[in-house]
Amino acid sequence: MNIARAAEALNNQAVTSAELVEQVIANVAERDGVVKAFLKLDAEKLRKLAAESDARRAGGKALSEYDGIPIGIKDCIVTEGETCACASKLLENVVSPYDSTAVAKLKALGFIPTGRLNMDEFAMGSSCENSAFQKTSNPWDANRVPGGSSGGSAAAVGARLVPAALGSDTGGSIRQPASFCGIVGLKPTYGRVSRYGLVAFASSLDQIGPMTTSVEDAAILLQAITGADEHDSTSLPLPEENFVQAVREATVEDLKTLKIGLPEEYFNAEGMSAEVKQAIDASVKKIKAAGAEIVPVKLPHTKYAVAVYYIIATAEASANLARFDGIRYGARQEAKDLIASYFASRGAGFGEEVKRRILLGTYVLSSGYYDAYYLRAQKVRTLIRRDFEEAFKSCDILLTPVAPNVAFKFGEKSANPLEMYLSDIFTIALNLAGNCGISVPAELGSESSMPIGVQFIAPALAEAKLLKAARAFELLRGDFPAPQGC
Ligand code: GLN
Repeated sequence: MNIARAAEALNNQAVTSAELVEQVIANVAERDGVVKAFLKLDAEKLRKLAAESDARRAGGKALSEYDGIPIGIKDCIVTEGETCACASKLLENVVSPYDSTAVAKLKALGFIPTGRLNMDEFAMGSSCENSAFQKTSNPWDANRVPGGSSGGSAAAVGARLVPAALGSDTGGSIRQPASFCGIVGLKPTYGRVSRYGLVAFASSLDQIGPMTTSVEDAAILLQAITGADEHDSTSLPLPEENFVQAVREATVEDLKTLKIGLPEEYFNAEGMSAEVKQAIDASVKKIKAAGAEIVPVKLPHTKYAVAVYYIIATAEASANLARFDGIRYGARQEAKDLIASYFASRGAGFGEEVKRRILLGTYVLSSGYYDAYYLRAQKVRTLIRRDFEEAFKSCDILLTPVAPNVAFKFGEKSANPLEMYLSDIFTIALNLAGNCGISVPAELGSESSMPIGVQFIAPALAEAKLLKAARAFELLRGDFPAPQGC
């Protein structure tokens, strides 16, 4: 059951929260042995929270229509009293003493934060293969990756283990795994959702967002977690908007009023597979036939986006991860003195990709190289943002692929980090620009039969418009299948 249906069933007394939670526990027992999306799931705690929710509802005191619905949580978004390892050995036994604002807001509406979902260590990666603990498989094909870094969230929702989950997106980590697992993934505008309690990877890019099986559910979760927060000075005070209503009002007819831009650079990118191209082209054709105006646009600085991202994100990561030294946080390796202990703790605790990023980030920030790399990347970041501003002068929404390929096989890209980085080409530019974007399942690939998502991108803070367009597309597309056995 997705969120909307679960809410309806709870409110009609057709189901209890206890039943919903038992279903999650049973799903995980039956199917997560193969999928391996959950790092932790405390069944007793869930049962207790569900009983409390049912008691509230029975007493007419439900916290909202969603009271009692379980939501999976990515391992880098902290929940009080639960581990927050970020899938890293270094933080394996760290328990959070507080709730992230996103989780606190979910709890305030009665949603039940459910377990800890696997990810690439510290959200660095595109396949979940960088988790220190386990490899999550794609629910559509156990030999393939679920994408990353929010691969556990995507696989859990794709396999219908939980109704929905939260993920985080720094350069595509919500949208790319959503596309790989056949679900909806929304990256909100930078500042739309508080980052308080999201373990920082690259602070100028990170956002928390919904991973769901429908656009309506994405709107429900966004509505739940949005809002200014005194704990995060980059969260924005914004006028209240009703995203759920916007989505419920959307119809296929809305497409007739939309100008949809196709950025040239995203359609002739090197390395794009034939089946992805075919699927995106088919979606464009359908949207056009439904009455949308399709306009070609240009984002000329796209070719620099990967390089700029891997300078800025690693620079910020190298600073953010400095606190994980075994003294302030994390597993400590005793050594002959303080400095030796730092080296030993970080050396033993961080995985290879995290170390690579810290080294890269430290290098681009070091004196002598700062101007040549970091400062320059910041300037090109501005040019990338201006590209989007320019493009949005001639259209309402952009439509692009999410990733150049469908979910790949384990080990296919992990030996070559550059190849892995290059596959982020369609998702990272909008994090650099601060826009919002959503990945919606389009069809199954003609060769692989794996899900392929289409990405819609809107200007900063235009989530209502984005969600409406995504919903119109979803209606046009019709039902999207779940993987076999789910
Ligand atoms: N794949 C990108 C990276 O490895 C994006 C990760 C993310 O969005 N957290 O950095």
